[in-house]
Amino acid sequence: MAAHLRLRGALALVTGGGGGIGRAVCRRLAREGASVAIADRDEAGAAETLRSLPPGDHEAVRVDVGRAESVAELVDRLQARFSRPATVCVSCAGITMDEFLLKQSEAAFDAVLRVNLKGTFLVTQAVARALVESGASGGSIINVGSVVGKVGNLGQVNYAASKAGVEALSKTAAKELARYGIRCNTVLPGFIRSPMTDKVPAKVLDKFAAMVPLGRLGEPEDVADVCAFLASEESRYITGASLEVTGGLFI
Ligand code: NAD
Repeated sequence: MAAHLRLRGALALVTGGGGGIGRAVCRRLAREGASVAIADRDEAGAAETLRSLPPGDHEAVRVDVGRAESVAELVDRLQARFSRPATVCVSCAGITMDEFLLKQSEAAFDAVLRVNLKGTFLVTQAVARALVESGASGGSIINVGSVVGKVGNLGQVNYAASKAGVEALSKTAAKELARYGIRCNTVLPGFIRSPMTDKVPAKVLDKFAAMVPLGRLGEPEDVADVCAFLASEESRYITGASLEVTGGLFI
């Protein structure tokens, strides 16, 4: 099969599709032939992603992944619009609210856990339920964690904890959903150029770039290509895995 049409006929839901890595994932999956539902709390960003996709049956939808009702509305809307559940789901929605442990507020800890961890839980659960209820024969759920969930990072006690949780959640989902033919994997990016890392001081980014064995920061497309592989049948025997996309950082 032509590599660029590995997802022909699939419906793919991408949260956080309104920018950064999520936007690159939407573009990549659409290029593989998928219909893409671009879900983001940033409606303007999602609409911009929609305009950038190759022709196809795509949709931009507003969602707050941290609210169960909003996620349920999203899944219902996809069913009504596309008459089938998403068989590919990539959870890219995420936020940072960086502060050192000694200064971190309870509110900042809760806010980051709400979007990154609870949001990934709600989306994984809702998509898996819709798939199981539809009797579909399989699916691929891809959750975006972070390498800092494995190694920690200065100023990111909330973020690192949330991303470690995403990995554990995905491994558990993989075990429970395998009987339905649904795979669940985690992608662990290193430092990727995006609106999220635009907030990081240039000298910190330069320091990390110098530490990367492959000699550069990552681009959103580096992560999107791995998501496309995990979405496709080429990864049919991979579940519960965590794939680092770091250029070798922290190996
Ligand atoms: P980004 O800020 O560019 O994109 C995140 C997207 O999530 C935005 O479009 C934002 O509107 C959306 N979002 C935030 N809260 C939401 C909510 N409650 N509901 C729905 N959408 C929401 O960041 P990015 O760098 O593209 O990050 C994408 C994912 O990759 C995140 O999960 C992030 O933690 C992870 N990640 C990024 C890097 C990196 O270096 N950029 C590294 C490791 C992991």
